[in-house]
Amino acid sequence: MPTPFSAPDFLGLDALLTPEEVEIRSQVRAFVTDRVIPGAGARYEEGSFPEELIAPMGELGLYGPTLPERYGCAGVSAVAYGLICQELERGDSGLRSFASVQGSLVMWPIHAFGSDEQKDEWLPRLATGEAIGCFGLTEPDAGSDPGAMKTRAARDGDDWLITGRKMWITNGSVADVGIVWARTDDGIRGFVVDTTLPGLDAPEQKHKWSLRSSVTSELVLDGVRVPDSARLPGAEGLRAPLSCLTQARYGIAWGVLGAAMACYDEALSYAGERIVFERPLSSFQIPQTKIAQMLTDITLGQLIALRLGRLKDEGAMTPDMVSMAKRNNVEKALEIARTCRDMLGANGISLEYQVGRHLMNLETVKTYEGTHDIHTLALGAAATGQSAFR
Ligand code: FAD
Repeated sequence: MPTPFSAPDFLGLDALLTPEEVEIRSQVRAFVTDRVIPGAGARYEEGSFPEELIAPMGELGLYGPTLPERYGCAGVSAVAYGLICQELERGDSGLRSFASVQGSLVMWPIHAFGSDEQKDEWLPRLATGEAIGCFGLTEPDAGSDPGAMKTRAARDGDDWLITGRKMWITNGSVADVGIVWARTDDGIRGFVVDTTLPGLDAPEQKHKWSLRSSVTSELVLDGVRVPDSARLPGAEGLRAPLSCLTQARYGIAWGVLGAAMACYDEALSYAGERIVFERPLSSFQIPQTKIAQMLTDITLGQLIALRLGRLKDEGAMTPDMVSMAKRNNVEKALEIARTCRDMLGANGISLEYQVGRHLMNLETVKTYEGTHDIHTLALGAAATGQSAFR
């Protein structure tokens, strides 16, 4: 069964947080402990998303929390946003994904690239969770290389007609609005698309064994007509969707620490109680080696995330830094989840425990928002000055 949360803070990093950041983390931690973790295993098994938590999460200010208060957002620091992601993903990567998409991939581009009308229309409703958003970039033949997208937006008088197919879109079939990226005669542009428009279909993608407590859909656009006022006026070229991904990847670098901590806590507690060969499992050297390594990896991940957050607030964070954080922290979280799964023996494969669910979820997190390999290439290019992408 889920264990009480202890959260390692081996280097006393809490001392580097502001009282507001600590308070926000406490609030989200209590919410996740009370409302998310108890049913997370069952929802994973059913493949259902906890829709009843959408509004309460809005009340807590978890959507687009760094955006200004005038749009109903919390206006908190990047570190506070990171801590929110960490606590949500301690519950389930699917829930953190919902908040990441809503905040970083829908609200952030509307705020960064949108018109005043687009901001006023959508941001307050997205902040409360009254409206749900999705982000349509990936296509069947364009994932790691979004510049290969085939979806087209063509001018038709004062309007645009958008045609194409997006895949693996989080929240797609439950979304009220989609940020849809399409090729135009002038390059790639983003559109704020009302999902009730004729010609738009969003069939859910089923049969996933990872991120099961999250809605994933196709977006099929067949001549969807939108006015020019639906175009994000400040978004020009591939740079625009990539900058959204930088925001979301930042949150992921924090979020996966939450999954890793949940696994670590569960395995540590289990090893303390499990008697093998007449002694607690945790008293043997092999489990202690694993525990020492996991504690070190979590602590290093926390240091990376915290430094990145402070740089983000100073405006000094670069995409390459985010690549390092996303790549390292996801890989380490995945290794930790796998080690913890093993330490629980047969119980490790049961959804009565958390480790297996986190392990499976983290396989998705390794792939989306830039695969591990893509971030390796980004870091390789940054370090050598030589791009090995193509
Ligand atoms: P590919 O790009 O085909 O990659 C396949 C393999 O090739 C990977 O191992 C990759 O690392 C490797 N590879 C690719 N290029 C290179 C290279 N140059 N050199 C070496 N190796 C390379 N997308 C959205 O737009 N919106 C969403 O909301 C969203 N949500 C998602 C939710 C889930 C559950 C999942 C699984 C995916 C989601 N995605 C979403 C899509 C995700 O971002 C893509 O799957 C990801 O970018 C990888 O693309 P791909 O699956 O086409 O893999």
